[in-house]
Amino acid sequence: MSRIGIVAESAGETRVAATPTTVRTLIDLGYEVAVERGAGASSSFPDDAFADAGASVVDRSDAWASEIVLKVNPPTPDEVALLADGATIIAMLSPALRADVRESLQTRGITALALDAVPRISRAQSMDVLSSMSNISGYRAVVEAAHEFGRFFTGQVTAAGKVPPATVLIAGAGVAGLAAIGAASSLGAIVRATDPRPEVADQVTSIGGTYLPVVVDEVMESTDGYAKATSEAYDAAAAALYSAQAREVDIIITTALIPGRPAPRLITAADVASMKPGSVIVDMAAAAGGNVEGSVVGERIVTPNGVTILGYSDLASRLPAQASQLFGTNLVNLLKLLTPGKDGRLVLDFDDVVQRSITVVRDGESTWPPPPVQVA
Ligand code: NAD
Repeated sequence: MSRIGIVAESAGETRVAATPTTVRTLIDLGYEVAVERGAGASSSFPDDAFADAGASVVDRSDAWASEIVLKVNPPTPDEVALLADGATIIAMLSPALRADVRESLQTRGITALALDAVPRISRAQSMDVLSSMSNISGYRAVVEAAHEFGRFFTGQVTAAGKVPPATVLIAGAGVAGLAAIGAASSLGAIVRATDPRPEVADQVTSIGGTYLPVVVDEVMESTDGYAKATSEAYDAAAAALYSAQAREVDIIITTALIPGRPAPRLITAADVASMKPGSVIVDMAAAAGGNVEGSVVGERIVTPNGVTILGYSDLASRLPAQASQLFGTNLVNLLKLLTPGKDGRLVLDFDDVVQRSITVVRDGESTWPPPPVQVA
């Protein structure tokens, strides 16, 4: 029987990789669970609740000394040094960008599984932390925008006068964009959304948005569920759409990402300058280079014409209890796959595409990058 360590995150991260509920399931899978003291403090999961769920609450070095360590963010060099010889770490590791993390884990002879490398196949959806966190982030982007916006989202007719609804434009209707459309329309706003993948049109309308197509003679095709870079013709037509929308709408939330590339620039400084004073932009792609000219990662900027641009990159962490619950559930679903005997023994099967795709280092051997996964 192996022991799983749930370790505390560094300052600035409010999430934790397990909750009392997910700890119970890990124990049902045959594991012992040790939680670092205070690991759930920022997400409203006190040590006592972990203890009641059957975990032991231990010191930092003890939690890190477990055979399997579960974590949200990549380990720092100091944390890598705390891992036991031959341990397995499961966390978001940004393997494509963080060669330093991969190499440090390799040097230590560790096995490292990257939660952010789960392939986009239906079977893996229940383990996909990028999707679960994007969903939360899209919702929270609307909450942040509503907080900054000095008006109602919903229209009202009151004795003191008529209030028009806010108009919201969502750029990119993937997981985060759809969550933002749902949240903004349920607050009563008029919501419009655009995305180069025409198949999202029905999804947008089904949750109360209006789909704005960018009309060009091409269809965006994707074989793996990810968007590809758009053409010059598409970008020119999209730029005209954004310029027209920027003059009309009150809120813009951008979510456009292209895996392996910097985020596409969608909203120019001229578009921002054309917006009404009091308008709000949330650039959810700020950390990937930004969809909006002038957005700054982690910052709230107010432009000379009174437009607030939010570049927050911690939107999921701003709903820490729920984010931890969904993250922890994704991890439990992965551990069910990795524990076929339900006997507290982790078995890594490289014939399984999910397990192969997420394994970055196996017993100190680099296994990154994995073979490409084709989605039918
Ligand atoms: P993402 O985070 O990679 O990108 C966000 C959105 O940006 C996408 O909708 C993309 O089309 C859009 N985009 C790219 N370039 C753009 C541009 N120039 N202008 C405007 N928008 C642009 O994508 P995501 O949200 O993670 O998911 C995209 C799709 O993949 C969704 O339909 C989702 O359901 C699917 N998905 C499936 C699985 C699975 O089956 N396991 C997992 C994750 C996502």
